[in-house]
Order: sequence, then structure tokens, then C-alpha cells
Amino acid sequence: MKTLSHWIGGKPVEGTSGNFGPVYNPATGAQEKQVPFASVDEVDTAVATAKEAFRTWGTSSLAKRTAVLFKYRELVDAHREEIARLITAEHGKVHSDALGEVARGLEIVELACGISEKLKGELSTQVSTRVDVSSIRQSLGVVAGITPFNFPAMVPMWMFPIAIACGNTFVLKPSEKVPSAAFKLAELAAEAGLPDGVLNIVNGDKTAVDRILAHPDIAAVSFVGSTPIAKYIHTTGTANGKRVQALGGAKNHMLVLPDADLELAADSAINAAYGSAGERCMAISVVVAVGDTADPLIEKIKERAAALTIGPGDDPASEMGPLITKVHRDKVASYVTGAAAQGATVALDGTGFTVEGHEDGHWIGVSLLDNVTPEMDCYRDEIFGPVLSVVRVETYDEAIALMNNSPWGNGTAIFTRDGGAARRFQLEVEAGMVGVNVPIPVPVGYHSFGGWKDSLFGDHHIYGNDGVHFYTRGKVVTTRWPDPSDGGINLGFPSNS
Ligand code: NAD
Repeated sequence: MKTLSHWIGGKPVEGTSGNFGPVYNPATGAQEKQVPFASVDEVDTAVATAKEAFRTWGTSSLAKRTAVLFKYRELVDAHREEIARLITAEHGKVHSDALGEVARGLEIVELACGISEKLKGELSTQVSTRVDVSSIRQSLGVVAGITPFNFPAMVPMWMFPIAIACGNTFVLKPSEKVPSAAFKLAELAAEAGLPDGVLNIVNGDKTAVDRILAHPDIAAVSFVGSTPIAKYIHTTGTANGKRVQALGGAKNHMLVLPDADLELAADSAINAAYGSAGERCMAISVVVAVGDTADPLIEKIKERAAALTIGPGDDPASEMGPLITKVHRDKVASYVTGAAAQGATVALDGTGFTVEGHEDGHWIGVSLLDNVTPEMDCYRDEIFGPVLSVVRVETYDEAIALMNNSPWGNGTAIFTRDGGAARRFQLEVEAGMVGVNVPIPVPVGYHSFGGWKDSLFGDHHIYGNDGVHFYTRGKVVTTRWPDPSDGGINLGFPSNS
């Protein structure tokens, strides 16, 4: 069995804590690797290394930083296939989906290549006689990222390219379930010429996370993961004086109006509910069907679901892979059985599904639950699996009230041909990312990503301009090059003239 390492100071570093976590191949159920869990001392070593590297990286020129990022962009581009294979081997998602994740991560590296434009300051001349004022943004120092299992490459790339482009140094704690893609990203950064210690990886569990949250030399923490942990990270990190952005879980609703193109709505529901086996924070997990749309839409979803190919992610024929762990598989299945017991209609039941020859894999088929109501567990909880619930309502107003009553507000979508209804929806829905006939409205790199309510704790969305603001702090400089007449005693509050 392969033993993985941390990445500190530009090289692999063996774990010394003696604690390891298992890394499975979800398609076979076999443990193929073990990942070291960092001790407090190991986290401290990574932070000290990052702090030392900040002394030179933090004052390095924009030209030098962007030259590294341009090289990095080329290397990640050239290694897309390899990174995607690492993702599939540990996460289980199909290769094409893993390639898509790398492509969306690369968008943020591209944004970081243009950081000089984002860090341009502002200057006002002659605000008072012979006085100029400039506003600049400066890096924070050592910043940290804590990331989830479901996007092993993309979510780290939402964070560190912008952070390091802004002049910070970075300590990443990737998900212990899928550590290899992030490690590869760090190796490529070194190959691109990123100085040692600017990007470090500590693998681990709560011990490592808690040390990051308490470490006095870490200025800011970016987190992406489930809502309870996001809340914990935000509360603890801010109590320790850190800047924190903590993105949480989701329950994304897709509203289908009676005038919608139902063929498009059915395709979109399938893609957004079952893609990546539902293990996406932007997955659609609830369809809100208005008026008489539910019956024809459910028929179309069932037809399409019957044609889906579920299998190992490295098989090019597979459209959906397994779930991350056996425990998670069983939990997802329990929501389907529980929904039936609570009165939902199980229109498709994927709980008995397996793949011949891979019976120990973490398999589940797709499930479709009809007549779901807001009191049911399958509606209230984030299932994070290929389970789509359909809630039937009579009117748009009923639909928007239901959606805005949800504690989450990550992404949402409306399917309609009515521009006025779509416009009303954009303004009225309480969610951070809205799609109009687009089921997974993940913003491009130069717009920011983030939810509302329990889907994000903190003031900043991730990447885009918000990312630059999160990883920098403002400074305003007031300058006078004096004339002999500027002297004299005046104890009054300075005013401009
Ligand atoms: P998770 O919250 O279990 O883990 C996320 C990170 O937190 C991991 O690095 C993990 O090691 C660490 N962690 C876990 N338990 C901890 C604890 N008790 N104390 C300290 N650290 C802890 O999330 P996950 O299962 O890896 O990922 C799936 C979740 O992430 C889903 O809820 C999904 O919606 C969410 N997610 C959200 C977004 C978003 O942009 N809002 C994106 C991707 C995933």
C-alpha cells in the first residue's frame, strides 16, 4: 500500500505523527493508499516555512509572480489528464467530469495570471493643496485553505492561485479522502518556479484543522465543506482574530414553470442531479414543479435515467461513478428508504444497484422521489448523492416561498420561456448564484462564487474580485511634498483646503 506525504518547503515530507487515514478506490472499495495525519508540530513546521517564504515572496515584484503563474497555467494545462486520473482514482467521479473540474480550476489560475490588473491601486491628486492620496492593497502574510472531498483539484485552485498571486504564502489542508490531486498541483507549482515554502500541504484531520484555526501566524482561512463544519470554522477562526470565508453545504432547488421547455428541463435535471453522483455543492437536489408540469417532467426524467451508464470512473462508457465511501453510500440509501416510509413516492429506486465484477465498490443507482414535502428528511437534509426530490406546488408564489424558506442559499435555477418571470425570480430568490435555464450556475473565474444563508459564513465570496479582496488588505497613503509655506503650528483636526 502506498504511503503519501505532506508537501512542505517545496518537497515531499514524510508524516511523523504515526497517524494515518485510509484512501480508497471507490470503484473497487479497496484501500490503495494511506495518508499521514499531521500533528500540531507538523502544522507548525509548515506555517513557519510559509512565514519564512513570505519574507521574500511578499515583496517580490508583480512581474516575477505573474511569470510563475503563467508557467504554472501551462503546466496544469499539460497535466490535465494526469490530474483527472488522480481525482477519479480517489474520488470515483468519471474521467470527463474530473477533466471538467480541472478546467474550472484552471480558470482561476488564468485569473491569477492577470493579478496586476486587479492590484492596481487608486490615486487622487491634489485632494488638498499639494496633497495626494493613494489606496493600495497589500498581502496578509500566511493564509490557509481547508477543502472538501468532492472537488480535490478545483476547490484548492479556487484559493491558492489568487492568494499567492496577491503575495501571500499558503498552507493547504486538503480532504484526507482525496489528497493526491492537490499534491500534484503543488509539485507542478514547484516546477513552474514557485519558490519553496510559498505553497505547502499538510494532510490531516481535525487536529490539523484546529491548529490552523488557532495558529497565531495564520492571518486568514478559506474553507469549503459541509455547513456544520463551515459554521465551526467561521466561529473559531474569527474568535481567534482571523479573516474567514467558510462555504458550506447546499440544497439547490430548480423551479420549473408550466411554460418551460420540458425536454431541456428534464436533461438539465438529470445532469445536475446525477452528475458526479450528486456529490456537488451545486447539484440540483429538488425540482419544484409548478402546476401540471410534474407528471410529464417525471416521465421524461425516468426515460433518461433508464439510459444512464453507471460504472467505474476510468471506464470511458461510464456517465456516473460510485460514491466516496461505503458509509456515505449507506447513508444516501437510507434517505431513499426513509422517504418511502415518510410518504414520498419512490419513482426510481437506485439503492439495490451494483456493478458486476466490482461488487465491493461504493455503488448506488439514481433515485427519484415524488410527492416530497418540506417536513420529510429527504427534503430537509443535504443528501449529497444521486437522489432527486420533486415537490409539487400550484403557483410561482408558493414555489418562491418554499425556496426562500430553505436554510441554504447556494445555487438555484428557473426553467421558463417567460422573461418577466425569470427577471422576477432573479430579484426575489434568496440564493447567491442563480441560473436562468442553466441548472448549475457556477460563475466563471472573473465573477465570484458564493452562497447565501447557511451556504456561506463570512463576508466574501470566493475567487473573482471578492477573492482578491479577501487575500489583501487596504492601505491609504496621504502624501504632501511640502512648500515652505506649509509649516506652522495648528492643533486643529486636519481639514482639506
Ligand atoms: P466536510 O465538512 O466533512 O470536510 C471538509 C474539510 O473539513 C475537510 O478537509 C475535512 O478534513 C475537514 N473536517 C471535517 N470534519 C471536521 C471537524 N470536525 N473539524 C475540523 N475539520 C473537519 O465536507 P466534505 O464531506 O469533505 O465535502 C462535502 C461537503 O462540502 C458538502 O456539504 C458540500 O455541499 C460542501 N461543498 C460546498 C461547496 C461550496 O462551494 N459551498 C463546494 C464543495 C463542497
